[in-house]
Amino acid sequence: MAMFIRVDIEDDVVRKTPGLAKKLVEVCPVNIFKLGSAEGTAETVEENVDECTLCDLCMQASPEGVRVVKLYES
Ligand code: SF4
Repeated sequence: MAMFIRVDIEDDVVRKTPGLAKKLVEVCPVNIFKLGSAEGTAETVEENVDECTLCDLCMQASPEGVRVVKLYES
């Protein structure tokens, strides 16, 4: 069974929270986050998004800055 998800990053929230972008990169066990080109931002690594384990660590790191949206299961 595959889970298809989308990861939304609230740039404003991430940018305003010192160290958060780096923390997101560190917490995700499957490297879905990378540092963005602008200082203090994070981006998703599209080719890794389908590896998401729904571990919730990113949303625990920033409940307002990150949302993992389940699209559908197959
Ligand atoms: S839920 Fe876990 S695996 Fe999925 S993006 Fe967040 S930290 Fe990464």
